[in-house]
Amino acid sequence: GQSVRLEERPEDSLRLRELMRNLLQIDPTVSAFCLLGPDGKARMSSAQVSPSAIPNPLKNPVQRDGFVLALRSHRMVIGVPCDISVFGGWVLPLRKTLRDETGKAVGVLVVSLRMSGMSRNVPHPAVERINSILVHSLLRYHIYASSATPETYRKWYGEPVPQSYIEGFKKIVREETGHSMEWHKRRRDAFPLEWKDLKGVATMAYVTYLPDYRLWALATLPKRHLYAAFARDAALVTVLFFLVAGALYIPFLYVVRSERRRYEELRHKATHDSLTGLPNRYALYEEGREWIEKETPFCLVYCDMDHFKNVNDTMGHELGDKVLQQVGERLRAFANDKRFVYRYGGDEFVLMVLDCQTAEIEDLAEEVGDALRQPYRVGRFEFSLGVSMGIALHPRDGESVDALVSASDVAMYRAKRSGENHHFFTHELLERRRRIVAVEHALRHALERGELFVVYQPQISSDGRLRGVEALLRWKSPELGYVSPAEFIPIAEETGIIMEMGRFVIARSIREMSELEKRTGVATRLSINISVKQFAERDFISRSYQQVQEIGFDPERICVELTESVFIDDVDYILEELRKISDLRVKLSLDDFGTGYSSLSLVQRLPIDELKIDRSFVDNMLEEKNAGRMVRSILSMAKAMGLEVVAEGVENANQARVLRELGCDAFQGYFFAQPMRMEELERFVREEAWRPLWREVE
Ligand code: C2E
Ligand code: CA
Ligand code: CA
Repeated sequence: GQSVRLEERPEDSLRLRELMRNLLQIDPTVSAFCLLGPDGKARMSSAQVSPSAIPNPLKNPVQRDGFVLALRSHRMVIGVPCDISVFGGWVLPLRKTLRDETGKAVGVLVVSLRMSGMSRNVPHPAVERINSILVHSLLRYHIYASSATPETYRKWYGEPVPQSYIEGFKKIVREETGHSMEWHKRRRDAFPLEWKDLKGVATMAYVTYLPDYRLWALATLPKRHLYAAFARDAALVTVLFFLVAGALYIPFLYVVRSERRRYEELRHKATHDSLTGLPNRYALYEEGREWIEKETPFCLVYCDMDHFKNVNDTMGHELGDKVLQQVGERLRAFANDKRFVYRYGGDEFVLMVLDCQTAEIEDLAEEVGDALRQPYRVGRFEFSLGVSMGIALHPRDGESVDALVSASDVAMYRAKRSGENHHFFTHELLERRRRIVAVEHALRHALERGELFVVYQPQISSDGRLRGVEALLRWKSPELGYVSPAEFIPIAEETGIIMEMGRFVIARSIREMSELEKRTGVATRLSINISVKQFAERDFISRSYQQVQEIGFDPERICVELTESVFIDDVDYILEELRKISDLRVKLSLDDFGTGYSSLSLVQRLPIDELKIDRSFVDNMLEEKNAGRMVRSILSMAKAMGLEVVAEGVENANQARVLRELGCDAFQGYFFAQPMRMEELERFVREEAWRPLWREVE
């Protein structure tokens, strides 16, 4: 299949043919080039014969091993000399396997060198009597012998090196040098030997291993010839062997170079982002690792565009891509020999800054933020985008690229939440983030495992009677213990768990309050905190109302508490929902009043019945003038608008007394009661436990 593919791509085969022709001119030693399939069949060749005339090396017992070796190898492999008539006699094949992207062999390029032409590579007169021999260490054939003549080729190359010869040689090496051939092979040294050959002639040799080609090279010389000269030239001979090998290598340089270019292209593709042309996440990790190894301090600035999803959603991905290209261009302008820009993914980019100071990075982050916040123009659109950055320092904030990326990500997340341009990583931030993750994780199972329950905090009215209770959610997690709603409610809102949780609070508190009524005859008001996020749920109001009716609870006894700060987002939508609630005769209360942003005019537009003065004002009203003034003005405003006012966080009788004198309608706080479980509330109601406390207020 693979070989068919090769032939099916005419531009490839043309390129190859030309390459072959060029290579032939480089070195007259080269007799032919051919391209074989992995099956050994020739597909193409520079010889003027049909490919089918070229023998298949897999069919030749002498050639097979060398070919298989080449198929398995990623480098050039020297084969065994062979007599191929269409190539004009004895040739030495050099093979290089070509592979596709997955590394699969698609063909084998073969360069055949003329054996007769190779001797001219060893023309030094001092080595005329030296027989230079190359033996393949795996294939165990002579690859080259300088004393071989065309008449003796068959004797030299036609048969494997006899096993007895190899064994004998091994023994000589061990006796002469005290080490095995393997030992010398590993050492890659060149060593001298002396022995008597079969005819009793004292022979000297110099031996070395050429690992790149898996060749043993040895130079032998009868001792009687120029003993001294030999010693002098021994080193030269070794060098010459390398030269021989070098000559073999030249034609292949072309192949290898073009392979390397292809490899570089692939590498570029793998390490660069195609949309922006910036180095990608992979490059970031690789280069980061290098700097860490070199112990270079650096900063990692993680940039994330704000609300980029909106761009894609409203303008489409194509335009979104154009915006990202512009973001990439703007960031690229910050790159220099110490600053590097990467596209991490999506709308996330990373800047790496070598050897930086905190002050410098601070300025840089400001500049980057300014650049990225400039308006973007794509097609007929023009708009601005925000960006949030997190900064982590190596080595202070992390030992690995991974650790630094997640540290900067945590810092970025923080910057995003608080609307800052950038934020530096701190370990405290990480602890907080971990806690959030742990809470989020535990929260997912809290409902189904029954870890949630509701407690009730009584409200006492200004005439000393029980006015109502506020339902407050409680969570006891087996892993985390008691977790405050102030901590888990925001997380539940963010993850959407709030929907299910809200349904639970409504159902549970209405049921418990109607039970309380049945048991004690006391029908009191029930205030329930509702997160605005819950309005996002479809039919939230009608579904909740259905629950109320099923239990038979009077809707007028229910008061929905909404936190003031939420009204800034989408007033019109909320307004509509609140009217629906109001139409059902359910009461509405504005919680934490005075801490948010709602203007007087907004309060006038809302169909609310009640204000809850935030605990912080009640806390300080007796000591601090400003808090006292605030309480006073909230109360007079509320009276003018006909709203009831409940004071939160009343902790002593003085507070209650002053609030009552100012016209406050009800009081809630630890002075009268802590939030309590249903059973405790029942006792509180039966015993009218607030009465003695009320006497202190009056
Ligand atoms: P909030 O609605 O302002 O609730 C009043 C908080 O003040 C409660 O804290 C209550 O225990 C506490 N408190 C009451 N009297 C005093 C006092 O005299 N002194 C002091 N220092 N604190 C007092 P809790 O129960 O921890 O609730 C915190 C917040 O969590 C609530 O603030 C509310 O915003 C939210 N929350 C609680 N339950 C729910 C719920 O079921 N749904 C939603 N959406 N939010 C809830
Ligand atoms: Ca509340
Ligand atoms: Ca409150």
